[in-house]
Amino acid sequence: MNDADTGLTQPVTGLRGVGARLAERLAKLGIRTVQDLVLHLPLRYEDRTRPQPIGSLLPGQSVLVQGEVMLTDLAGGGGRRRLLCRISDGTGSLTLVFFRLYPGLHARLSKGVQLACFGDVRPGPAGLQMAHPEIRVLHGGEPSAEEDRLTPVYPATDGVNQTTLRRLIEQAMQFVRAGLPDLLPDGLAGPGLPGLLEALETVHRPTPDCDIEAMQAGTHPACRRLALEELLAHQLSLRQFRYQARRERRAPVLRGDHRLRRQLIASLPFALTAAQQRVADQIGTDLARAEPMLRLVQGDVGSGKTVVAALAALQAVECGQQAAVMAPTELLAEQHYQGFRSWLEPLEVEVAWLSGKLPAAQRRTMLERIASADCGVVIGTHALFQDQVRFHRLGLAIIDEQHRFGVHQRLALREKGQDAEVQPHQMIMTATPIPRTLAMTAYADLDVSVIDELPPGRTPVTTVAIPDGRRGEVMARVAEACASGQQAYWVCTLIEESEQLQAQAAEDTVALLREALPTLRTGLVHGRMKSVEKEAVMADFAQGRLDLLVATTVIEVGVNVPNASLMVIENPERLGLAQLHQLRGRVGRGATSSSCVLLYQAPLTEGARARLGVLRRTTDGFEIARQDLAHRGPGELLGTRQTGDWQFRIADPERDADLLDGVRQVADRLLQQEPELADALIRRWVGQRQQYGRV
Ligand code: ADP
Ligand code: MG
Repeated sequence: MNDADTGLTQPVTGLRGVGARLAERLAKLGIRTVQDLVLHLPLRYEDRTRPQPIGSLLPGQSVLVQGEVMLTDLAGGGGRRRLLCRISDGTGSLTLVFFRLYPGLHARLSKGVQLACFGDVRPGPAGLQMAHPEIRVLHGGEPSAEEDRLTPVYPATDGVNQTTLRRLIEQAMQFVRAGLPDLLPDGLAGPGLPGLLEALETVHRPTPDCDIEAMQAGTHPACRRLALEELLAHQLSLRQFRYQARRERRAPVLRGDHRLRRQLIASLPFALTAAQQRVADQIGTDLARAEPMLRLVQGDVGSGKTVVAALAALQAVECGQQAAVMAPTELLAEQHYQGFRSWLEPLEVEVAWLSGKLPAAQRRTMLERIASADCGVVIGTHALFQDQVRFHRLGLAIIDEQHRFGVHQRLALREKGQDAEVQPHQMIMTATPIPRTLAMTAYADLDVSVIDELPPGRTPVTTVAIPDGRRGEVMARVAEACASGQQAYWVCTLIEESEQLQAQAAEDTVALLREALPTLRTGLVHGRMKSVEKEAVMADFAQGRLDLLVATTVIEVGVNVPNASLMVIENPERLGLAQLHQLRGRVGRGATSSSCVLLYQAPLTEGARARLGVLRRTTDGFEIARQDLAHRGPGELLGTRQTGDWQFRIADPERDADLLDGVRQVADRLLQQEPELADALIRRWVGQRQQYGRV
């Protein structure tokens, strides 16, 4: 039986009492189909199944109580009139307060009446009270239970109240009871997890003995059963793309003879770290296969990703193919261009360069070189995936600092292969350490390698936070460091994304610093400068002809000047942790101990204080990423463009981390052996939200 037979995929308008208006409001909650209703889970529950002894009540509880009216009286006067009613059940007494009086209310609450009341318990002037409870007068031997199940409280929105949601979800559950296929493959759930129907009954209509705390925390077996299926569906939707690519696309087999790679390694002034070696080997193996490589290489700032990329590029060149390296900013692309040239030209590998800012004539020449067999490696910005760019034989696309690119840009470069059936291998590098759980969900279409080791001899950066009022001290510190032969960055940040405003702020700062510190050789880089100018300033700084570099966040990624050992970051409270960690990664690259001064505007908000505290405490990018994830959610880590793609209804990859390994394995097996089942799961959980991973 498929979903269509059960009526679950029909729009909500198929239900009784749902017209166009209500359907529109439900859509705001992400509810479009009957199935969406079933998967709309409660935030919490109210217990209306049995009265609580009044003597046991605590403020803040929402409870059902039952008692006898002792006294009812009007209090206050004028606009502040209210009715107070005291009830008692023998264990204690409680005051009911009614501000909105209506005819007959006073009479219903006459002394001696038995009442059932549901409401929120609050402290009052004379002990605990309940304002405007729902009340019911009990007659004789009537059972006091209001419900036989706990009452769910759902996420709601304007015009869709709890009563409506409960009614609709109960209707939707009837379709489920009529036959909702259990799609979870055998062996995944393991013992202790209920079937799908049972899990849904439990979350929507828990019995009074259910462990509500576990339900609200999402750790109850019923919740875990649903989270498991959701994680699997999500994983499938991402991995499916990968299997399609594997089935339908071939990649060039790049085995290579190691000649160029050996030469590069021999020419380096250092030995590769064990982590670099391991990741380079993983990539080497991938490239030698006819399946397109899709690999994410994570490594903290300064872990030495560039040389790993260069080795991969050379493997392509050894096979007569080209490699393209795409960087997210002009500055970083330029720096890669210089770096790759200094490594590869001695090996007689031609390196070409393409940026959006090249003058037309130079651009034409570059396009011709890229299209020619002589060119081995092409470095550039996103200009590389424009339509006019024709590669000679693109075998490998390397994307640096992936989090700055959207998923779609990444896919666009894949399409630059020789023809429709052959696509280049793809390697993505990111310095934003993505916690494993997030990587497994957000980057499920990729294999992941981690360079989890820094080159030896690095000393950790000491970080301090200093209020702007003590700017003078900070400047003195810069002067002192530079006088002793070190170099420093002064980073100007603005909230505005406008390059012009950022540039202005940096220009103002450089003027002030030059005046205050006349002995220092101070330079300036910002995003509005011409490439040649930027390059010249960066070169001056790299070669020690400048002491102090005032910069905007253009230097955030990749910039590498080992002698720079002090960084001042203005307005750090405005930036996210990941970005601050990247910036700070520009220092601590040499043997001198480095420091970072966070020059903040007082007073700090609670949140900002906590974020800066994290940076002061640790330089471990993974720890920082975990904190960022906890403080700001996945958007900050992955780039806002991509966040909508992994909003889970039920699962929480951090909380449910232990389920992920099993899910990944089963996902791969299903895609290979039971693609129809995989499709059904994706339709059920991801549905229209699956734009990601599809070309
Ligand atoms: P990132 O991973 O941040 O891109 P880079 O590739 O820019 O790091 O490397 C940072 C610095 O470390 C560069 O100066 C690079 O030459 C140097 N480096 C890379 N690998 C090693 C190593 N194994 N030993 C010593 N220095 C290294
Ligand atoms: Mg880098």
